[in-house]
Amino acid sequence: MNILPNTLDLIGNTPLVRLAGPSTEAGCDIYGKCEFANPGASVKDRAALFIVQDAEERGLLKPGGMIVEGTAGNTGIGIALVANAKGYKTTIVMPETQSREKMDTLRALGAKLVLVPAAPYANPGHFVHTSRRLAEETDGAVWANQFDNVANRRAHIETTAEEIWEQMDSKVDGFVCAAGTGGTIAGVGMGLKAKNENVKIGLADPHGAALYNYYAHGELKSEGSSVAEGIGQGRITGNLEDAVIDTQYRISDEEGLKWVERLLQEEGLCLGLSSGINVAGAIALGKELGPGSKVATILCDTGFRYLSSLYNAEWLQQKGLPVFPWLIDDD
Ligand code: PMP
Repeated sequence: MNILPNTLDLIGNTPLVRLAGPSTEAGCDIYGKCEFANPGASVKDRAALFIVQDAEERGLLKPGGMIVEGTAGNTGIGIALVANAKGYKTTIVMPETQSREKMDTLRALGAKLVLVPAAPYANPGHFVHTSRRLAEETDGAVWANQFDNVANRRAHIETTAEEIWEQMDSKVDGFVCAAGTGGTIAGVGMGLKAKNENVKIGLADPHGAALYNYYAHGELKSEGSSVAEGIGQGRITGNLEDAVIDTQYRISDEEGLKWVERLLQEEGLCLGLSSGINVAGAIALGKELGPGSKVATILCDTGFRYLSSLYNAEWLQQKGLPVFPWLIDDD
């Protein structure tokens, strides 16, 4: 019988799918790793599992203990599910600008939710610092610290990269994704380069993030802004240290949204904006690598998490973004 012994085994081993439209556009094969198929519907379930297991192995988490984390939402959802499965409590600190769906989901899963105003990283009220203080002040609590805790990228070295390598039968020419914590790009990059150092690793950076300039010119500098949630980093996190990035692309929200729209309308995939930005980046690398090449990227989370934003005409209009044609009410 082909039965998984434990619900936590549902994390990872996600399918890899060839994306027809992006492959035609790039003139080579573009593959999407379906991370929305994880139990928490995002790539962050993997990091959540590894971070919790690491805290257990270090003896930091005791039975019934609490995990505290600052997150744009998806890591919190992953941690809440893993914590429930292992008998821990979860407290999540999140900027109040994140999607309504993520907040409702976290509450529904049983996490305690602490909302803070959006603030720059240098501000002590930033969600990351608030979560660290909360963990320090709470007996039996552990701070997950996804940005600097390298158990995060280890999840991608040991699982995501291994899966992509196997699913593509060792024929991987390139991999592209955006960075939030940087765990995915650093970990998948390290894992794939350990298999074949010639695999090209590309960063897809949204506007408003500082990494494009860092990898292109050695300077952490950001321009513009993005409505994409979960990506757009302004510093070299612990997870990004020692990451090898061969090339970088700056991708606008409009370009990312174009691929969100096309993947939904032409291929029946409902995704979040970071996935669209990743696909746009993968196409850019595919064009550089040329016909016959094979490039993988990450389809980070489900679009169902953004029904009140990305898939809402009024919200898109407010942000000055193009509205998907089928959302326009024409009576
Ligand atoms: N996309 C979404 C929707 C996310 O929530 C995240 C996680 N913050 C990412 C992409 C980026 O992943 P990572 O933290 O591994 O860089």
